[in-house]
Amino acid sequence: MSKSFDVIVIGGGPGGYIAAIRAAQLGFNTACIDDWKNDKGGPAPGGTCTNVGCIPSKALLQSSEHYDHAKLHFADHGIGVTGLSLDPAKMLGRKDAVVKQNNDGILYLFKKNKVSFFHGLGSFVKATDGGYEIKVSGTAEESLVGKHVIVATGSSPRALPGAAFDEENILSNDGALRIPAVPKRLGVIGSGVIGLEMGSVWRRLGADVTVLEALPTFLGAVDEQIAKEAHKAFTKQGLKIELGVNISEVKSGKKDVTVTYANAKGEAQTLEVDKLIVSIGRVARTSGLASEAVGLKLDERGAVAVDGECKTNLPNVWAIGDVVRGPMLAHKAEEEGVAVAERIAGQHGHVNFNTIPWVIYTSPEIAWVGQTEQQLKAAGRAYKAGTFPFLANGRARALGDTTGMVKFLADATSDEILGVHIVGPMASELISEAVVAMEFKASAEDIARICHAHPSLSEATKEAALAVDKRTLNF
Ligand SMILES: Cc1cc2nc3c(=O)[nH]c(=O)nc-3n(C[C@H](O)[C@H](O)[C@H](O)COP(=O)(O)OP(=O)(O)OC[C@H]3O[C@@H](n4cnc5c(N)ncnc54)[C@H](O)[C@@H]3O)c2cc1C
Repeated sequence: MSKSFDVIVIGGGPGGYIAAIRAAQLGFNTACIDDWKNDKGGPAPGGTCTNVGCIPSKALLQSSEHYDHAKLHFADHGIGVTGLSLDPAKMLGRKDAVVKQNNDGILYLFKKNKVSFFHGLGSFVKATDGGYEIKVSGTAEESLVGKHVIVATGSSPRALPGAAFDEENILSNDGALRIPAVPKRLGVIGSGVIGLEMGSVWRRLGADVTVLEALPTFLGAVDEQIAKEAHKAFTKQGLKIELGVNISEVKSGKKDVTVTYANAKGEAQTLEVDKLIVSIGRVARTSGLASEAVGLKLDERGAVAVDGECKTNLPNVWAIGDVVRGPMLAHKAEEEGVAVAERIAGQHGHVNFNTIPWVIYTSPEIAWVGQTEQQLKAAGRAYKAGTFPFLANGRARALGDTTGMVKFLADATSDEILGVHIVGPMASELISEAVVAMEFKASAEDIARICHAHPSLSEATKEAALAVDKRTLNF
């Protein structure tokens, strides 16, 4: 006998669990199916983000930053440290505890919102009169029927051809978060968000890190001026970044990995490392869904094909998050989840793709929203730019972290903010003001006229807005 639901969500990552909670809040009888297992085989909802992505990476970034500060910066504050030591097992244990708190938090939220949770793989069986039959294969088999189905099955790491992940020597993001002892030599293929964050963690802890990137430009999606500043800072910290490389072979030995490649000049090179992280992007995960059983259409990249409202080719089947087009970001997945639940309820759920913030949690952090200067130039849009360096910000000086700047781009005529780009301390937090401003179609002058607390890093945001009109007060 099948259990019937108004809404069944397949996948309990940030897209799926948030969609399920919002659907339940709207009065729908809702189920969420997720197959992630913790090390004891129990449920671990939260998806990539909670288990092997956003949360554990930030836990390790925080721990490694504390270590880096104690080793390199405490002395500047007159604090002497003797006998500084590192306990990687404890650090990884703390990270695992943070992950578990989040897993447990989601299970609690399901209970609180009366979402029925099923631990196992969810697959389409067939379309029925009342919607769609979904089989759950877990510790126990279940048959569910849902009037609406939201596919939120996320993504998996892309492997380099000929170099499968073994999670011992050749690591995906999963293995990169579980290296038991700091490797002497660490290679990272791919200088995107994940590669830079993971490279930063292990560099701070003492690894000699080399990043190999196929593209000729560093962080091509980032505003050029900001990317240059970040590159300068990372190089100064000792991160070796080689651009424009062409990898020909990755060979995994017993205890090391050899990467053979041509550098940007076409010269043959080899890199020998103890561990290699491969972070060259992610692919939509549809295996296990049995999309063919109901004729759910995938696009040419294997993602679930959706329109602007996350509708698939099947009536009442929706898809959100990493398994569909668009940026692979947890907050994008969450916003789509909320919007779809609201559309099912007949409301006008909405996601503004122009105001999705991006963050790279390195040190300095990089964050941006809206368009870059190179995008505005390519579009032929007349704009004004204003920048303000953290070097001239009192709070940044007090923190001892004056790297970077805030940059505003505004329309040349209307002064509407078109993009805000930050490289520097707490950029991840500072960017929210810019997101709110852009969502409300504010002008640079609007920000310049708002009273910002002193001393705060946010004063750099106000000053960059003033810089658009060439009237900074502190620089
Ligand atoms: C190292 C790393 C760091 C990251 N850091 C950030 C960050 O700081 N900020 C940010 O915004 N994004 C970050 N991301 C990206 C972010 O993790 C993803 O964008 C986000 O998790 C996507 O959410 P989702 O719900 O679409 O999919 P996922 O989080 O992948 O969740 C999908 C869930 O569905 C389950 N599933 C799949 N198929 C089935 C099935 N058939 N039946 C049942 N369950 C199924 C999966 O096991 C998984 O639990 C990071 C990613 C990585 C790898």
